[in-house]
Amino acid sequence: MKVLVINAGSSSLKYQLIDMETEEVLAKGLAERIGIDGSQVTYQPEGKDKIVIKEELKDHGDALNIIIKELLDEEVGVIDDITEIDAVGHRTVHGGEEFKDSVKIDGDVIEKLEEYSELAPLHNPANLMGIRAMQELLPEVPEVAVFDTAFHSTMPDYAFIYSIPYEFYTDYSVRKYGFHGTSHKYVAIEAAKMLGKPLDELKIITCHLGNGSSVCAIKNGKSIDTSMGFTPLAGLVMGTRSGDIDPSILFYINSKGYSMDQINKILNNESGALGISGVSSDFRDIEAAANEGNQRAILTLRKFCYSIYTTIGSYAAAMDGVDCIVFTGGIGENSALDRGQICKNLSFMGVELDHDANWFEKGNRFINVPDGKVKVAVIATNEELMIARDTIEHIND
Ligand code: ADP
Repeated sequence: MKVLVINAGSSSLKYQLIDMETEEVLAKGLAERIGIDGSQVTYQPEGKDKIVIKEELKDHGDALNIIIKELLDEEVGVIDDITEIDAVGHRTVHGGEEFKDSVKIDGDVIEKLEEYSELAPLHNPANLMGIRAMQELLPEVPEVAVFDTAFHSTMPDYAFIYSIPYEFYTDYSVRKYGFHGTSHKYVAIEAAKMLGKPLDELKIITCHLGNGSSVCAIKNGKSIDTSMGFTPLAGLVMGTRSGDIDPSILFYINSKGYSMDQINKILNNESGALGISGVSSDFRDIEAAANEGNQRAILTLRKFCYSIYTTIGSYAAAMDGVDCIVFTGGIGENSALDRGQICKNLSFMGVELDHDANWFEKGNRFINVPDGKVKVAVIATNEELMIARDTIEHIND
């Protein structure tokens, strides 16, 4: 069985074709600058060189046409016939309160997704473009929507409600939804495998640290809290996003002459690590600058780690304990420095890292000291595989 996983953004589209018997990627790539000058598709068949196809891409349909042509190509293709694609899985950002799990796509689902576009105006319309383009190209193939929000649908009301008038929840759906759910779910499942214990008997805190970052408290296999909120702007210090700030700051800055549109852009694109450091949104650049003594870069790393270990501490309280902390995402998987700083401040609850395992070992592994009270794992996330697994599970819904 082969699943095509699609992650459609407004002007880009990432894809992977996965053989579900082996869970191996057969081919993957990215369409970029869709609808913009200079568009191109990259196509990489497993074990072969990457191919770049420079062609005008008017829309997501054009991009998918090229991708399918390459998948079928006599020389570089990985399938002989289009019927070998058994299902398509779509990363879909916002499922609102309706979708508590992945779902097979039909007309009703599309209608609901259109409704939720209001809640995720940057993401859901783009995801829908990918879904519609795929339906036109392969109308017979079942498609499944896998939501970033679904895994967090198990949060209790006292975790997701905001302390503003209740009517904003009932009338306008204002509540915490949480994101990165596919990644948190994937690494939690992998952590349970590594621990050799059933997921539904564990208390796990997963830290997805990348350009966007979030922490999730997973009790007995269910998300009970997470740091992103109504939108992915909330919570931790991120690459360019502010994370949590006092909402009154918005009104104060507004009174200084910044429009709400400008403030929106500042909080999403010019804040976070970029805003504090003035160096970059990329943590490799910030670590390099900190190593050279740049004080704002040092402050950025302190603030970033502070936002994470204080969140971990509060989630340990939310679960009344923790068995395992997981680091994933570009920073979580690669930055021994940040993992070390974060864990140093969690020694009070029995977190202790093995220096060599943290700094020098590679791949998925535990980095806590032998017999450490709390296990600490580094696990590479694989959202595409999680989407493909969910797709298979839901094609017969
Ligand atoms: P996205 O959220 O876009 O999927 P990633 O999970 O790929 O992003 O994470 C990107 C971040 O990971 C960047 O800030 C990058 O600097 C950081 N990163 C990657 N490798 C390292 C490393 N070796 N040390 C520190 N940060 C790293």
